Amino acid sequence: CAKRDNRGGVVIFSADHEAEMNDLGRIDQTLRGSDLVRELFVLFQPQYDLMRERIVGFEALARWESEKLGNVSPGLFIAAAERSGLIERMTSILLKKSLDAAVQWPEALRLSFNLSAVDLVSPRSIANIARIVRESGIAPGRLTFEITETSMTTDFERARVSLGVLAGMGCHIALDDFGSGYSSFAYIHRFPLHRIKMDRCFVAGLKEDEAVSRNIIRAIADLAANLGVECLAEGVETEAELRAVQAAGIRYVQGYFYGRPMAQADIAERLAAQQNAGPLQEAAS
Ligand code: C2E
Ligand code: MG
Ligand code: MG
Ligand code: MG
Repeated sequence: CAKRDNRGGVVIFSADHEAEMNDLGRIDQTLRGSDLVRELFVLFQPQYDLMRERIVGFEALARWESEKLGNVSPGLFIAAAERSGLIERMTSILLKKSLDAAVQWPEALRLSFNLSAVDLVSPRSIANIARIVRESGIAPGRLTFEITETSMTTDFERARVSLGVLAGMGCHIALDDFGSGYSSFAYIHRFPLHRIKMDRCFVAGLKEDEAVSRNIIRAIADLAANLGVECLAEGVETEAELRAVQAAGIRYVQGYFYGRPMAQADIAERLAAQQNAGPLQEAAS
């Protein structure tokens, strides 16, 4: 799958490279001058278990509502934070906000949290993350850290040590956007891994080349099964896509079909709806 373009939000980009560099510079500069504790917040997207027919957790997705720029997409502001040395601070703020929310959920629900490649190679950031998890009082087993393939290739040994620290606490590790980058099967078994998240381009590809896409989805599901890790399909938007991933034997799904990223305030209602409606009505909603 080709790398997706993460641009969006209200920040408009010119096709002109120079103008684009100015826009990026403006994001970096604004980020440095902003009250991030106030302007950053988190939305939560349901992760659904097809076997138990219920929501089993939520992924925390960062949002930045900048006073100066309006809503900036995470693809842009995470990269900006990485460039300007602000990512460790941003991770701390986002993780604290995410955990504050998660400790209020029913105990059966898990939280998934995205880590940056920069966090993974920084022992200081990992120590900080471990401290925030301990101070939150959450059972570490309820927490999954999502990392991308690319972040494992920056400095594999350091990343492996970092994941060892987090897994050692009892937290789970998920490989995000699987298949979209430069995956290497050579290292995939050399760090603690609990879940593969199949990139949404495979599900989206169903519209283009049915047979080939179905075979690829099946191959990824089989790989996860053979490694003894969970498999989650990202970006499931339609019932047809849901049936395709289900047919491949994939147990966990995430995507607009089961819910868009939502505010903490809307989670209770979403969970209540799940209890009242049977699984069938649930899937049709
Ligand atoms: P991701 O971790 O792969 O998150 C999934 C992205 O797909 C999210 O985009 C989500 O809103 C979107 N999505 C979910 N379901 C669907 C669907 O059915 N269809 C479509 N078209 N899209 C769907 P979002 O929120 O814009 O986040 C983009 C990326 O930014 C994330 O990709 C993640 O890599 C990064 N990110 C988000 N929050 C954080 C964070 O707190 N820390 C770090 N380091 N990165 C983050
Ligand atoms: Mg993720
Ligand atoms: Mg992903
Ligand atoms: Mg992504």
